[in-house]
Amino acid sequence: VTGSLPDVAGLALVDHHCHGVVRRDLDRAAFEELLTEGPPGTAAFDSRAGLALRRWCAPVLDLPAHAPPERYLARRADLGHAEVTARMLRAAGLGALCVDTGYTPEPILDPDELATAAGAPAYRIVRLERMAEEVAASGVDAASYAGAVRAALAGAARGAVGFKSIAAYRAGLALSGERPDDAAVRAAAGRLLSGVRPGSPVRVADEVLHRFLFWCAVDLGRPVQFHVGYGDRDVDLHRCDPLLLTGLLRAAESTGVPVLLLHNYPYHRQAGYLAQVYRTVYVDVGLAAHNVGDRAGVLLAELLELAPFGKVLFSSDAYGLPELYALAATLFRRALSDLLGAGVSAGAWTGPDARRYAGMIAGETARRVYRLP
Ligand SMILES: [Zn+2]
Repeated sequence: VTGSLPDVAGLALVDHHCHGVVRRDLDRAAFEELLTEGPPGTAAFDSRAGLALRRWCAPVLDLPAHAPPERYLARRADLGHAEVTARMLRAAGLGALCVDTGYTPEPILDPDELATAAGAPAYRIVRLERMAEEVAASGVDAASYAGAVRAALAGAARGAVGFKSIAAYRAGLALSGERPDDAAVRAAAGRLLSGVRPGSPVRVADEVLHRFLFWCAVDLGRPVQFHVGYGDRDVDLHRCDPLLLTGLLRAAESTGVPVLLLHNYPYHRQAGYLAQVYRTVYVDVGLAAHNVGDRAGVLLAELLELAPFGKVLFSSDAYGLPELYALAATLFRRALSDLLGAGVSAGAWTGPDARRYAGMIAGETARRVYRLP
């Protein structure tokens, strides 16, 4: 590509938000279900994600680029899921992974197994709501709930590099900046615990509890990720605009604790604004970048209109399919290389500027924010 920055191809990426991949071979329906956020039965190969997968992942399985879906899936079945996982994780060229271990609808690879496959260290991110739900199911009463959650999170923090909030999937992102007081948490815990039934899952979906969990994480001094914007059909997307978090981001800024806004699409410009105006806010376009396929460059360019180059990170948000690791990394490298290279060609910035920004976005910023060794 004219104007691309070739150095980016050789940079190891830090994938700061990703998940395990499945341990089974997949038929076409199962594969397409994991390829996009569409419901089961979606023809996901006929999407930009599907087209990009045929373009970039087929050669990883020794097929020509654009091999048709039937041929791709047949080759995948011949190799078996373990070999496909090994090839795709290597092809991603990762320097480190930060794995969200809180979403396990079926047995998936754990961080140590991902690390082996990727040939790079994997670190853990703890899901706040899942911890809060485990504490609720453990039999505590409302008065001791807050203390029990704080203790559980402090324990979890010892083996993790950060926390994640899925408030977006539950109460939405309209969280006030106020730290809830003990009485408010106790009342919210009472509401939660009164709904706990043996044998059925506990579900935290309460504005007060999401805020409480966020401030617990801040008190522990660990970076906090928020799911923002684009996700599967469980999310009410209109409640996931990151601007709804403005009060909370402003209130937490003085603590210095980094807050990482994940995905963001289609609110990535709003997220870029927040990254510019709040010192502690960082952003990515994970998940969206591989779903828009060949349009990933446009997406990254729009994020970087306002987001400072030092506030943007890479993530795949890969879940289920190992292909999503390779695809996200390939599309992101190309997008970043083209964007930075085009700026050099246009005289908007210099080659040394471009290489410095490439290094920050590929991994230096993530390593600093999460204090990775
Ligand atoms: Zn995710």
